Amino acid sequence: MTEPSLVCHFCGGMPASPRDDHAFYVLCDHCSLKYMTWPCPGCGEMRHGVRAHESQPCGTCETARQWAAFPQTVRDEIDLAIAERPAIRAIMRIRELTEIGLQEAMQLLHYRSSRS
Ligand SMILES: [Zn+2]
Ligand SMILES: [Zn+2]
Repeated sequence: MTEPSLVCHFCGGMPASPRDDHAFYVLCDHCSLKYMTWPCPGCGEMRHGVRAHESQPCGTCETARQWAAFPQTVRDEIDLAIAERPAIRAIMRIRELTEIGLQEAMQLLHYRSSRS
């Protein structure tokens, strides 16, 4: 049976149908070749995106992985900056210390700030 009202989640095109590897999305033939879903290797949360990114972790797990990869001295400096400075200055300090991007630095700030 086909459902005539189904449109592609990504491009809005028709016809589209649920795919085996897209439990949450309805995709057209074209987009089903480009996109897929996969469980985050860190936490198992379902992710979706282009096939080239298959098996990449979610943002939280990626930030946790990134954090774990920094030397202890850098992690101490970052936690100190987050504790003592306004967020914007803490982000600037994080970028000085790690050379990561602004978006990543903001995620890292959030990651560390949301810990009890
Ligand atoms: Zn499509
Ligand atoms: Zn995850």
